[in-house]
This record gives sequence, structure tokens and C-alpha cells, in this order.
Amino acid sequence: MTIDKYNFAGKKAIVRVDFNVPLDENGKITDDTRIRGALPTLKKILADGGSLIIMSHMGKPKGKVNMKLSLGQIKDAVAAALGVDVKFAPDCAKATDAAAALKPGEVLLLENLRFYPEEEGKPVGIDKDDPAYDAAKKEMKERQKEFAKTLASYADCYVNDAFGTAHRRHASTAVVADYFDKDNKMLGYLMEKEVNAVNNILSNIKRPFTAIMGGSKVSTKIGIIENLMDKVDNLILCGGMTYTFAKAQGGKIGKSIVEDDKLDLALDIIKKAKEKGVNLVLGTDCVAADDFSNDAHTQIVPANDIPDGWEGLDAGPETRKAFAEVIKTAKTILWNGPAGVFEFDNFTAGSRAIADAIVEATANGAFSLVGGGDSVACVNKFGLADKVSYVSTGGGALLEAIEGKVLPGIAAIQG
Ligand code: AMP
Repeated sequence: MTIDKYNFAGKKAIVRVDFNVPLDENGKITDDTRIRGALPTLKKILADGGSLIIMSHMGKPKGKVNMKLSLGQIKDAVAAALGVDVKFAPDCAKATDAAAALKPGEVLLLENLRFYPEEEGKPVGIDKDDPAYDAAKKEMKERQKEFAKTLASYADCYVNDAFGTAHRRHASTAVVADYFDKDNKMLGYLMEKEVNAVNNILSNIKRPFTAIMGGSKVSTKIGIIENLMDKVDNLILCGGMTYTFAKAQGGKIGKSIVEDDKLDLALDIIKKAKEKGVNLVLGTDCVAADDFSNDAHTQIVPANDIPDGWEGLDAGPETRKAFAEVIKTAKTILWNGPAGVFEFDNFTAGSRAIADAIVEATANGAFSLVGGGDSVACVNKFGLADKVSYVSTGGGALLEAIEGKVLPGIAAIQG
């Protein structure tokens, strides 16, 4: 079923959203992008004359109640965004009566799903090497089914609009869908947009295709890097992983971030790129700092000749120019991960140069997809989010989708 075709009149819809919004120490929302992202879906359901049961996780309470991560804190913000009153169910697994009492146009927000270990379906308090682990896992999977069944019992139909968690087989993201027939479960509008953006990158590649992968570590990005190697013309690797590559090739990297157990992997990536004819672009110079802070002293040095006691925190001017040249000629662009410690204003130049070049390429007709929490934070910080083709809400989910993996949250609906 598709959301556009479904008439929610008189129906109760349980909708999985991603309301894992950042809060300050007083529980106030500091960025409501995720709430705004879900509004088209939520408003369509209410406009049709349906009632809404909204469910989400927040943070990582690890299966325990933690009021600092209570969704009760965002109830009023959700009500303001929707323009209707929102009721709150303080226990997501005991909301049968509250759900049953909902009238058309009414909204019920469930408490954080991850207060229950059943949501993630992972056994708690037992080590993976423990001989009893497998049995505990099996038991938890059974409990997860029961939990999902309870959630499903609240509603007539299920909508998944949480792309950020679509790569997880959690109770609310996938298992719950088993309790609805195919005519009564569907992706939400945000999820549809995400799926289309990924399809655009994967099936409709206009060349040259340039991927920019940054962030702190190569280890967390290796799956996607290897996969992209078969697809892209240019692969820019930047951010903290620059120094693992520099060290692997015999460079001096001072006290820069490095993964010493990934040096061989770095050499392997360089070799594979050559074999596959991929233009691998690595930083040649960097902004080195004498301290991991915004006010550190800095100097521009070669990325493979950093003095002792100094660390590379951003791409240098020569590197920025080289990156920008490659990006500007691209027709398909994927960006995940910053080129430097962009949280410090003095180390944003590398990420800024990438963002500017992407904006220019997009204006010249390229399709550009920016995804993953930190690169999204970058384009938002630079005020450029509306000048790229698509900003994805997914980090891990986006990368897994681009790796070509079937996401459990999508498979549970589309089969
Ligand atoms: P990731 O979560 O792997 O995508 O990494 C994002 C983080 O990488 C951001 O918080 C950046 O501050 C950090 N990062 C980027 N470049 C560097 C660098 N040269 N040294 C240390 N951290 C970095």
C-alpha cells in the first residue's frame, strides 16, 4: 500500500517516526528537523479523519526507564507542530485503553520505545561469549514478537516514517509490520522520499559520480567505501581517516587521529582503487593544531609530514582546492562525513569548501545527496541545506541502503 492511496478516515494509525531530537540540559529541543520531517505523514492522517498513535525512540536508554530520555518532554512541541492537542501514554506497552479511546483527529504519543529491551530485541546483561547467550537471544526474540504484537493491537494500520532506524530489525521498525496485512501497512512520505533519493543514486547514475567520505574513522566506513569502489569515478577520502592513509604510506602524522590496526586496510583501498580505475583523492596538506581545541595554534603542513605534538584537524588549502575541482565537475554526488573537526569554527574550512563545491555542481545540474548526522549538521551550519538536491535523515540506514543492503524496515512493508 502507498500512503497517498490510503484513506485513513475512521482508522487508527500507528506511526513509527524518528523523534530522537537533540535536547539541551533543560529538556528543550535544540533542533526540531526530525519533527518537521514527519509532519506531511502525520498531517495527512489527521486530514483524512484518522487518529494517530505516534511512537519513537529517544537516545539509548538500553532497555531501562530513564526520564531524561522521556518523550513526554517533547509532547508540547509535537502538539505545536501539528496544531492539535497531544495525549501522552507514559508506558508504551500499556496504552490499550488510551489508544481505544482515541477519536478521529486525536493524537496519542507513546513513551520511549527503548525503555523496553524488547524494542531492540537484544538480550540485556549477558555477554556475547556467555554460553547462555544464544538461548537468551532466542527468548528475547520471542518477547520482541509479543511487544510488537501489543503495539500492533492499538491500531488498524501501520506507517513507518523513520528512515534513520530502517536498517534495524526492531519491534517498532520491522517486527510490528508482521501483524498487518499488506493493504494496511505502508511507508510514510519522508521514508518514500529517502528511498527515492537512494534509488536516484543507485539506479540513475549520471557520470562522473563522486563520493566524499569523511568523519573520524575508516573502520566505520569501510563497508561503504569498498562498495562505492565499484560505482564511483572519484572517491574523496577526508577527515580523520586522512592520517591513517598517510601513516600507512610511511608519512609522519604527529598526534593526529589514527587507527593503527587499519594501516593494511588503507593500503588495500589504495590498491583496489588503482585496479578498478577509481580516482582516489586524499588530502595532501592539512591544518595542524597544537591542541584539540578551537583556539589552538595552527600551521599548514603536508598531511604526511606533521611535526611531533601537532595534529591534523582540517583539510589544508591545497587539498580544499583539489577536492573542489573534482566535485565541481561531478554529475552525481554523495557526501557523508566532515573533512575536519567542523564543530570548532576554526576547523570548518575543509567541510565548507566541499559544501560550496557541491552547491555549485548542483546548480549546474548534478544530483547531490548529503547524509549522515555530521554532514547534515555541516550543511545546516553553513545554511546550504536547500541548495543541495537531497539531505537525508539517515546515517547508518543511508549508508547500508547505498551499500545495496535490503533494509529490514523497508522489507517488512514492501516484502
Ligand atoms: P563520524 O562519526 O565517523 O562520521 O565522524 C564525525 C566526526 O569526525 C566529527 O565529530 C568530526 O569532528 C570528526 N573529525 C573529522 N576530522 C577529524 C580530524 N582530523 N581529527 C579528529 N576528528 C575529526
